[in-house]
Amino acid sequence: MNIDLHCHTNLSDGSLSPEELVALAHERNIDILAITDHDNIDCHHQISSLDTDLMLISGIEFSTTWRNMGVHIVGLNMDLSNKDLLSGIDFQTNARGLRANLIDEKLHNLGFENCLEGAKRFCSGKQVGRPHFAQHLVDIGAVSNIQQAFKRYLGAGKAGDIKQQWADLETVISWIRGAGGIAVIAHPTKYNMTRTKLCGLIEDFIDFGGEAIEVISGAQKADTTQNMAKLCNDYSLLASCGSDFHAPGQPWAALGMVAKLPESCQPVWAKW
Ligand code: MN
Ligand code: MN
Ligand code: MN
Repeated sequence: MNIDLHCHTNLSDGSLSPEELVALAHERNIDILAITDHDNIDCHHQISSLDTDLMLISGIEFSTTWRNMGVHIVGLNMDLSNKDLLSGIDFQTNARGLRANLIDEKLHNLGFENCLEGAKRFCSGKQVGRPHFAQHLVDIGAVSNIQQAFKRYLGAGKAGDIKQQWADLETVISWIRGAGGIAVIAHPTKYNMTRTKLCGLIEDFIDFGGEAIEVISGAQKADTTQNMAKLCNDYSLLASCGSDFHAPGQPWAALGMVAKLPESCQPVWAKW
């Protein structure tokens, strides 16, 4: 079985349309696929009409904060018509929109007019983010490349580095569970947390009703997998796996190129 439960379309920050992503999943012989766009479920409306023998699981990747650190929580196998989930998604969309407005304002104060409008030209979905502002700044010749845009205007500590006001961990988990889904800690090794801190996150996550962790996220070393499997089993969590695919040509996050979960782990799909 080839299972990928974490990937993105161009309705968040990926490069492929939902249709193109599903076509690629076919090419890669994926059996079970969950698309997990950032804070929105629009892709699922587009793929629901596709004629495919893939098992498509609903998914989302929520942004949240825990002890002032950015953490991502994947929701899998949810009822996408659930009212609390939908109002939660609205909340996150507003948080994202507020941030885009603030970035626009900061850039305006630096003398760059109409950056939000400009950024939107580079955004195929509804979510305008810093990369789109960066592309706009390149386009108008304010900087010569994306890296420079971040270095001067958008990166850490610069004017456009606006912190998001996401819903907290407990709230995000409650939306997923309320819709009958399973909450999953996404890419646990990507937060650069100490072991103690990561255990603290897992303990709060479990207290709030979280049930699973990504034991495998993209291409990772075998000892990382063993390490995450131990953590998963120590806390009696279910194990998930996904590529975190965003675009072709990124071998560290290639769709469907996900290592098998260790035998010791109870997979998240055992319930489906
Ligand atoms: Mn992303
Ligand atoms: Mn993420
Ligand atoms: Mn992701």
